[in-house]
Amino acid sequence: GEVEARVKAAYEKLQEVNKDINAVVTFVDPSEQLEELKKIDEHAPMYGLPIVLKDNVNTKGIRTTASSRILDNYIPVYDAHIVDKLKQAGAVVIAKTSMDELGMGGTNKNAYTGSVHNPWNPARISGGSSGGSAAAVASGAVSFAIGTDTGDSIRKPAAFNGVVGVKPTYGRISRYGIIPYASSLDHVGYFTTSVKDACVALEVLAGRDDRDMTSSLREVEAYHANVTSDLHGKRIALLENVQEEVRPEIKENMDQLVKKLEERGAIVDTVRMNDQLMEALLPVYYIIANAEATANHSNLDGIRFGMREDGESVEDVMIHSRTKGFSSYVRKRFVIGSYSLYAENQEKVFRKAQKIRRLIVNELAAVLEQYDAVLASASGDIAPLSEASHDASLHTSSIVAENYMVLGNFSGYPSISVPSGFVEGMPIGVNLTTKAFDEQTMFNIALAIE
Ligand code: GLN
Repeated sequence: GEVEARVKAAYEKLQEVNKDINAVVTFVDPSEQLEELKKIDEHAPMYGLPIVLKDNVNTKGIRTTASSRILDNYIPVYDAHIVDKLKQAGAVVIAKTSMDELGMGGTNKNAYTGSVHNPWNPARISGGSSGGSAAAVASGAVSFAIGTDTGDSIRKPAAFNGVVGVKPTYGRISRYGIIPYASSLDHVGYFTTSVKDACVALEVLAGRDDRDMTSSLREVEAYHANVTSDLHGKRIALLENVQEEVRPEIKENMDQLVKKLEERGAIVDTVRMNDQLMEALLPVYYIIANAEATANHSNLDGIRFGMREDGESVEDVMIHSRTKGFSSYVRKRFVIGSYSLYAENQEKVFRKAQKIRRLIVNELAAVLEQYDAVLASASGDIAPLSEASHDASLHTSSIVAENYMVLGNFSGYPSISVPSGFVEGMPIGVNLTTKAFDEQTMFNIALAIE
């Protein structure tokens, strides 16, 4: 019927656009799911909606690689919690999308299956690490995609691709069945083409799951029914540390946006956070993220998990498997992670980073005691040209502007990127962060921006 035709059209369109954007690792034939869909109530919120999942989401019987060679032949025997939720809501998975290997990177150039290209201009990057999901939505083939966000991996590519990207509060969505990166920073989130769709999606995905002990017991709110762009009584902090680093057109775009928010009734003040703490964001992030990643991925050794390479001894097998299975970029990160976890360095490197993380979160919490949201441009510039960007990280002089979004991961506070205009024909976006579990305010302000 109609639903079947819609899903098949999306499937074909994604295959067509993928020739230009390389966003897909594995296509998933929807036929079987369309059969299953007959058991679902037609009024389910995502009934018959074709969607894609980042390739670090475990899918029963469907290859899940995290865009790493070491997991090239990995076929999970179970579905992630969010896959259950999405299927109950009537969604149909049509592809698993490309990412920076194991989530490490911000360009999506560091994927085993090659770079993802930005649908607005294939010479530019999609951003990462959830670049395949962002590009799939921006291409128009699907209107919903799952991503994950450890530092900014949903929110940055969302801005580069002109779509909405949501990272809810830590614990709001279960991570059961997601291949981890850095457990204290990892969040499940998603991409949509509108703020209202983003409200519906969180109602589908959020909620307690006993299989993930970090998932929250808090009740899921009626975000969609309650969303409003009336901002009377809302106070918004515009982050000066970021705005002073963005290019003039992006600053101009923000000036216009501030006027719009004020017209909706909000009070917008420029706020400056402690410079030393803002400069510490990136080094502290790398210490914590790499250390946790090193621990999380120690089981990808060709023995317990992953592709096995031959060797004379068990140790040889592990060394050969890991050397061949991971890119040199990922191996470099494991070296950095191991260094800070090495017994004699733990106190002076890892523990110290954790302490500075706490100071940074306290600073953000202090701002959010006086304001309902922190607002800033999502990036200092448009998506970089692929040839001009480094393999995995964004090389730029705008250190704060390109990395401040880790604030949302350090704190676990909800954060969203919303498209706000165009520069040189490329989309740009802004980012909002609110108090823990105040997704409603985040969606309200986002609706006013949209
Ligand atoms: N670019 C950051 C990194 O490389 C963040 C990636 C992410 O959020 N997964 O770790």
